[in-house]
Amino acid sequence: MLNNQGRPTTPANDAAPVDAGRATFTGNRGLDLEEALLFEIGRREVTGVDLPEPEGVKSRLGAHARKTAIDLPGLSEPETMRHYVRLSRQNYAIDSGLYPLGSCTMKHNPRLNEKAARLAGFADVHPLQPVSTVPGAIELIGELGDWLIELTGMKAVAMSPKAGAHGELCGMMAIKAAIKARGEARDVVLVPESAHGTNPATAALIGFKVKTIPARADGTVDVEAVKALLGPDVAAIMLTNPNTCGIFEPEVAAIAEAVHAAGAYFYADGANFNAIVGKVRPGDLGVDAMHINLHKTFSTPHGGGGPGAGPVVLSERLAAFAPVPFVRKGETGFELVEGSDADAAAQPFGRMTAFHGQMGMFVRALAFILSHGADGLKLASETAVLSANYVRAGLQDLMSLPFPDHPSMHEVLFDDSFLEGTGVTTLDFAKAMIDEGYHPMTMYFPLVVHGALLIEPTESESKASLDLFVATLRDLVLAAKRGDLARFQDAPRFAPRRRLDETRAARAPVLKWERPEPAVAQAAE
Ligand SMILES: *Cc1c(COP(=O)(O)O)cnc(C)c1O
Repeated sequence: MLNNQGRPTTPANDAAPVDAGRATFTGNRGLDLEEALLFEIGRREVTGVDLPEPEGVKSRLGAHARKTAIDLPGLSEPETMRHYVRLSRQNYAIDSGLYPLGSCTMKHNPRLNEKAARLAGFADVHPLQPVSTVPGAIELIGELGDWLIELTGMKAVAMSPKAGAHGELCGMMAIKAAIKARGEARDVVLVPESAHGTNPATAALIGFKVKTIPARADGTVDVEAVKALLGPDVAAIMLTNPNTCGIFEPEVAAIAEAVHAAGAYFYADGANFNAIVGKVRPGDLGVDAMHINLHKTFSTPHGGGGPGAGPVVLSERLAAFAPVPFVRKGETGFELVEGSDADAAAQPFGRMTAFHGQMGMFVRALAFILSHGADGLKLASETAVLSANYVRAGLQDLMSLPFPDHPSMHEVLFDDSFLEGTGVTTLDFAKAMIDEGYHPMTMYFPLVVHGALLIEPTESESKASLDLFVATLRDLVLAAKRGDLARFQDAPRFAPRRRLDETRAARAPVLKWERPEPAVAQAAE
């Protein structure tokens, strides 16, 4: 048995398999293969390459030259390949199955996007290259920006933010600059209770005080509750629409009107834009700034936190404050504006990033947009909404809908009251889904309902795939109601790893491998 330093958070229940008959000599289960750390399988004395000692080369490192062995594990090419392929097989991915995470839009990443992004003219450009050598790249940024402006009905776009949360920061900094330019001192930002945590975090980061708008019993924001909080101290409202309960805010236009009448700005969290592309233009609803997560709406990969892109569209009232650099359509085509060459009217609040944004994501997003066309983008949104409502219709008699009176948009929210009295917790239910080969949906978010289960199937799932997903969840709910606790309390039983001590993994991560003392290692053998 390897000493498993890479997995110290393996919990006790892994030691005693539910079905001892399933324990294997290797630790593999069927084609589900165990894999140790490179340091545990590699040997220091082995190297994957075999180069002759260079002759006649004098080291210029002097006293800085390393005197001890570098101590990296050596592996052959096949060993290295197997290591990474085995690890990749332990991941659940959008390319391996339905990924029902709500508020994330884990949609298919078309291979056409990947092909376009790998074209040398896009993949190999360097941000420090003279601008005159990359007119095509500048044009691509400009063209994507034009689509985003057109689809949202806004005036300007800042392309450089590198994630949704970074886009929020950009939009709120533009709002802060606009308020300063008006000579006002507004320092309060209103955020509904159901908001994503990044909203209040963004506002607080740049010095705003956050006031929470209480949730209405039906999961929507009450314009009267907003009006009660508005005053000369309010800088902006940050509102997600469709909201994090998957509901289109029925009073969004009236809220925008009230916010503007009070001299404040309307920041829209555009994470759920996937539900309404081609149907509603946020600019028409009175939005002043909105980020667009290209990885949620325009099919670029969710890169585990990066490399992302979260462009921000801005209304007429905020356009002048857009950060540099930006792309402008000039006499001779698209040009990159870095600052000093901005229009006299421009008052950029500054710069969000060193360069121009994530080129690879821009290429993918534009490839998605152009391959769908305006009608295809609209159809994708309609299909995403249809898929979510199909799942809702297939489950609503067995699971509990906290807001049955509102239709769902691209995601459907259940709460855990259907599990009441079964002895199965929301977490148990999620873990049992893993045994069935599904990544769980978004759990315990939004916070406004008890034990939230937020499901977003997206437009890319077939009816057969949705039917199997619905049938699986129905089977699980019936098992819970029948009292088949074994299926839940020890779940996942069939995954490569069982329940981990996630708190310990987060609080006390083991980031460095320590070579075991030889004597101790021998004693263990
Ligand atoms: C995903 C999300 C964000 C943050 O976006 P990132 O791209 O992950 O930074 C903000 N708000 C909502 C509602 C989201 O779903």
